[in-house]
Amino acid sequence: MLKEKVALITGASGGIGRAVAIKLAENGATVIVHYNGNKEKAEETVKYIEYLGGKAILKKADVSDSESCKEMVEEIIKEFGKIDILVNNAGITKDGLFIKMSERDFDEVIDINLKGSFNCSKFASRYMMKKRSGNIINMASISGIIGNAGQVNYSASKAGLIGMTKALAKELSARNIRVNAIAPGFIETEMTEKLSEKIREEAVKQIPLGRFGKAEEVANVALFLASEQSGYITGQVIRIDGGIVI
Ligand code: NAP
Repeated sequence: MLKEKVALITGASGGIGRAVAIKLAENGATVIVHYNGNKEKAEETVKYIEYLGGKAILKKADVSDSESCKEMVEEIIKEFGKIDILVNNAGITKDGLFIKMSERDFDEVIDINLKGSFNCSKFASRYMMKKRSGNIINMASISGIIGNAGQVNYSASKAGLIGMTKALAKELSARNIRVNAIAPGFIETEMTEKLSEKIREEAVKQIPLGRFGKAEEVANVALFLASEQSGYITGQVIRIDGGIVI
């Protein structure tokens, strides 16, 4: 489905990003496996893709740093001549009650989750606009739709990302660039491994399908959005949450 496409997946050293990178590579894309601090895990993603017969390379950048994103995008353009698909997946949590939340924890989450997507989209879309073709997928969260106690910073970042997805879809549609978001619920990755057993039990009670999702299930939605199967879809938020938000 993605033969001859070049896809940049940010945060592909982590659970969902890795699954998306593997899924797009399995479907023919050349994948840029982006990481920031965890080179070993990113290398594992690359090795796994190569083992499956796919093509992948590594790139490091701090998405909250505009210069770092610019350099990464320019290096990819030099090497491959284009970026067809950008998956803005890198993200963090710094959970805590609002009353105790530091300004630093608020800023850090906004800088990585929201501004990081702005930075990567800004530089990648320049080349997509020239080619009059492109596809941007933002990894939001149901926290950005329904809010989550203890996640004022995270919910704000993901709600912002959803707004950005819709506005950008309108701006870039004339250049044949589609922009959509995925809003996962609770997915089994390192991010949710941090949750206490009590919080996990409470979370499962809210999920009609009665379990956390798998990263590969999110990757299936990313593949759909990245491919022409979704060619007439832009500005949408697709929830994958086991039915939490119905
Ligand atoms: P994860 O396993 O913790 O991976 C997070 C990724 O983000 C890592 O690859 C990490 O790279 C990267 N990252 C963090 N800070 C960065 C920075 N400053 N610059 C560049 N990259 C940075 O998390 P995940 O569960 O796969 O989450 C992936 C995305 O899905 C996130 O946006 C998250 O908010 C969203 N999401 C997850 C869930 C869930 O239940 N897991 C639910 C809803 C939404 P390094 O490790 O290399 O630094």
